[in-house]
Amino acid sequence: MSVIGRESSETADGAARRHPIRYVSTHRDLPGGRREAVDLATALQRGLAPDGGLYLPDRLPALDLDSLTRRRSDPYWRVAQTVLAPFVEGVLPPRDFAALCAEAYNFEVPLEPVDDGLWLLRLDRGPTASFKDFAARWMARMLRAMGGGTPQTVLVATSGDTGSAVGEAFRDVPGFRVFILYPRDEVSEVQRRQLDRIGANVMAFAVEGTFDDCQAMVKQAFLDPALAPLRLTSANSINVGRILPQAVYYVYAWLRVCADGGPVAFSVPSGNLGNSFGCELARRMGLPVSRLILAVNENDEVPRFLATGRYEPIVPSRACLSNAMNVGHPSNLARYVDLYGGVLTRDGRLERLPQMGEMCRRLESVSVSDTETVECIRRWWRERRVLLEPHGAVGVAAFERLGGQPRPAVCLETAHPAKFPEVIERELGFSPDPPAAFERLAGRAPAVEPLPASYEALRARLQREMG
Ligand SMILES: *Cc1c(COP(=O)(O)O)cnc(C)c1O
Repeated sequence: MSVIGRESSETADGAARRHPIRYVSTHRDLPGGRREAVDLATALQRGLAPDGGLYLPDRLPALDLDSLTRRRSDPYWRVAQTVLAPFVEGVLPPRDFAALCAEAYNFEVPLEPVDDGLWLLRLDRGPTASFKDFAARWMARMLRAMGGGTPQTVLVATSGDTGSAVGEAFRDVPGFRVFILYPRDEVSEVQRRQLDRIGANVMAFAVEGTFDDCQAMVKQAFLDPALAPLRLTSANSINVGRILPQAVYYVYAWLRVCADGGPVAFSVPSGNLGNSFGCELARRMGLPVSRLILAVNENDEVPRFLATGRYEPIVPSRACLSNAMNVGHPSNLARYVDLYGGVLTRDGRLERLPQMGEMCRRLESVSVSDTETVECIRRWWRERRVLLEPHGAVGVAAFERLGGQPRPAVCLETAHPAKFPEVIERELGFSPDPPAAFERLAGRAPAVEPLPASYEALRARLQREMG
């Protein structure tokens, strides 16, 4: 059994002797699994490991908390550079990496005090107003920096937030062309506008079918040798490049909130568990975390798994107000299970049970119903004049359900309320002001084409690009 460990200490000459961090598959111990460790560029390009597993770093660097604390008022991009530097050691020169982080994180990251020792971390100030901007912007720039100048095509299927975050992240990035497939009748009005108006090197396809159709079409394109000249890359949410940068805001919040260096609790609105996994990584790198709450909606397979040790995916997933969390089989659960010594396959079979006692001691998961979600939105507005949207409200409600302790604590707000005008209007009677990021959409021409839900149609369209 190979368990991924943390280093105990970090010294200057130690750094020179260590091998660069490499990436291993969560399927490495299965029959047919691959034990090879690959470099960051390969892991980012591939997304999924060839044996079907997900990549994880083969070791985790130790955070230098003293030095971080001495620079506690550093801007977000500097914290990102410091926390992520060990992952790009030997990959990018430090100066280039600093510039990359400054360019990726050119927006605010507000920590709003909402109660005694309780903060709301608003991760909604990026160009598409969801936390997915943090990872997508970093990953797009990393792929550019490591791509060697060969043109590449990003192909992504989306049910909403991921597509626009990835599209905006690659907009105007030289050498990349992006195609986004979304189900025409399954996205909200706000989401449609965000997807249709990226433009420049990004084209949206409004597919006359479901999200599953979009995903199946994209999957087939990756297997089609006729499209090889396009150099397709996926940028999807299972990519390890979408996980690493999500460790940063936990460190950033701790620096701002814990003046005495003590621990902090986090409540994370969760679907595929990628966001919270960033916290798990930061904790294993040495961040003092008193409680990590995986707050889920009525898709409650994770709390059930922690309670029973039995894992039963929910198929199809339940449709809840916090729609970006309607996930019945979270892809990143396999990464958690791996860190706790088990193996979970892509199709949801537990091949080796993780250390459940340890897992339950360090992770808590709470399921919040739609009724509780809207109740929380209304109460927080009435009592505190704090505006939550459905995803953030699930995180807050979960923290309250567990007694609202310990403090200090940080609840993550993962999207801007203006992305959910229907819910806010119905519950609170007004429509939220749009974030600044939405204004720039008005000045852009639509860049969208209809597409039948057939692979042949997608292939013909992409072949025109090769023309
Ligand atoms: C994607 C998303 C989530 C869920 O994040 P995971 O990393 O999949 O757990 C939560 N809130 C919003 C607004 C999202 O877009």
